[in-house]
Amino acid sequence: MGTAVVTGASRGIGRACAIELAKHGYDIVVNYVSNEAAAQKVVEEIETLGQKALAIQADTSDLKEVQAMFRTAGKTFESIDVLVNNAGVVDDQYLLMLPEDSLERSLDINIKGYFHCAQNAALKMMRKKKGCIVNISSVSSVVAIAGQSVYSATKGAVNAMTATLAKELAQYGIRVNAVAPGFIQTDMIDQIPEDQRQAHLKQVPLGRFGEAEEVAKLVCMLCSDTMSYVTGQTIIMDGGLSL
Ligand code: NAP
Repeated sequence: MGTAVVTGASRGIGRACAIELAKHGYDIVVNYVSNEAAAQKVVEEIETLGQKALAIQADTSDLKEVQAMFRTAGKTFESIDVLVNNAGVVDDQYLLMLPEDSLERSLDINIKGYFHCAQNAALKMMRKKKGCIVNISSVSSVVAIAGQSVYSATKGAVNAMTATLAKELAQYGIRVNAVAPGFIQTDMIDQIPEDQRQAHLKQVPLGRFGEAEEVAKLVCMLCSDTMSYVTGQTIIMDGGLSL
């Protein structure tokens, strides 16, 4: 099948995507920023599935680190066929108290990081005239949640870049899509205070938070030939939250 680079694959949605893609025959670059032990565990899980995997530390907001990651990946794997742009952060802040460093960090990781990885992956994919990029967005890009102005702006940017990159890269056989999950059971939503979590849960018509594995299955399907004529789309997967 080839090789998939999954950013932020040590935990949560990224980890689930890495494992699901490995089940579908991909070798995996398991990117992480700080949690080496967790990334190595994901590598071991992938190896038990019979696929190759390599954990590579890189802060996606740093272009030089991303370039180094793709160089290292290129020494082990023949091609890069899939990129899952997943590494992201949420830091809820009200506008009137918004710290500059929080704003910068969110913009750097959630937007610049996605461009860095898409650019490096596309340069490799275009040689094969085939590739697939899936950007993990969020339902917050289309649903307003107080305190999430920066996060929702970054995810709105992801939706916009998805459509434009799809148009730019189609000539190289590269499809670009996004998945916009609602509340998914990961460390990210474990940070939310319990009373707020319960309030959010009441807004979900399906009556539960989603599982990372459910997102991973959609990501994997977007990379498959089943979706060979789909590009530039943002698919919302939120248990009905945005309806
Ligand atoms: P998570 O459990 O907090 O995991 C975040 C992952 O990103 C970790 O693997 C972390 O690595 C990595 N990471 C963070 N900053 C990084 C950086 N600068 N460079 C490289 N890797 C970095 O998050 P999650 O809930 O799985 O979310 C993953 C994506 O889904 C994010 O883009 C998020 O916005 C989106 N999303 C999540 C939800 C949700 O409800 N969970 C809903 C909608 C969208 P370390 O382990 O090394 O720290």
